[in-house]
Amino acid sequence: MTRQVHHCVQKALRIVGMQECIVRYIPMDEKYKMKPALLSQQIVADQEKGLLPFMVIASAGTTDTGAIDPLEAIGEIARAKKLWFHVDAAYGGFFMLSNKLKPAFKGTELSDSIAIDPHKGLFLSYGIGAILVKNTKALYQTHHYTANYMQDAFTLEEDPSPEDLSPELTKHFRGLRMWLSLQLFGVAPFRAALEEKVLLCRYFYREIQKIGFEVGPQPDLSIVIFRYIPKSGNSNVFNQNLIEQIKQDGRFFLSSTTIDDIYWIRFAVLSFRTHLKQVQTVLKLLKEMV
Ligand SMILES: *Cc1c(COP(=O)(O)O)cnc(C)c1O
Repeated sequence: MTRQVHHCVQKALRIVGMQECIVRYIPMDEKYKMKPALLSQQIVADQEKGLLPFMVIASAGTTDTGAIDPLEAIGEIARAKKLWFHVDAAYGGFFMLSNKLKPAFKGTELSDSIAIDPHKGLFLSYGIGAILVKNTKALYQTHHYTANYMQDAFTLEEDPSPEDLSPELTKHFRGLRMWLSLQLFGVAPFRAALEEKVLLCRYFYREIQKIGFEVGPQPDLSIVIFRYIPKSGNSNVFNQNLIEQIKQDGRFFLSSTTIDDIYWIRFAVLSFRTHLKQVQTVLKLLKEMV
């Protein structure tokens, strides 16, 4: 994985009792994307040492900057080396609905598992994150269990119940929230909203530079990182103060992140209520404040 991977990965490793396994952080290019050639090199070097690389994790939209790793190149390496290929598309996955954005996700189909969050990219209610796993049999073998008191309930390996495929036994019907929304509205309004968010982000990326802000890489999706470099003084402190002022104003929530000791403000557009008017207002506010 890269250093830009979401911390859910390290957390999951700890939960499953594998926090001692060796994690390799593959260097990234200037757009915060994994360099596939270095991934290959690392796998070979580790195998020569007698280690057992078993999994590669790529991000399809990192949380910090929305960067999409080169999925196809990574997927092909994983396949050639017989490693499990996981794609964390929690934030970015649904942008695939847009025909214009779809090419950036090429290679996702090579994955063994994909995480997606309908409560992000489909704007639905919280708590319906999902994981798609190709190898149902492996999932079944991990999660299937029997109990004496459950002898009247039965499921078949060919037609497993959700209880046989996940940790939970009694559970919410979470999928209904997504299914019903798609049944009611169809895919078109979701696709249109996602395309709107990407356009808003590109607009912001262009306009914020006109006000004199420095920006991170050209956005792949709907996140821009930016900061103001003051004529004097510490720019990290300056931008922290700026965010504080925006919080005080109360109309907008801009978050922040730190990459390589640089404090960046994050403009992340992923609410169905954010439109051009809001983006123009926040630009005006930022201009006044600096
Ligand atoms: C948000 C996010 C997560 C965590 O998802 P939750 O729905 O907050 O649990 C994991 N990975 C990425 C890339 C994310 O953006």
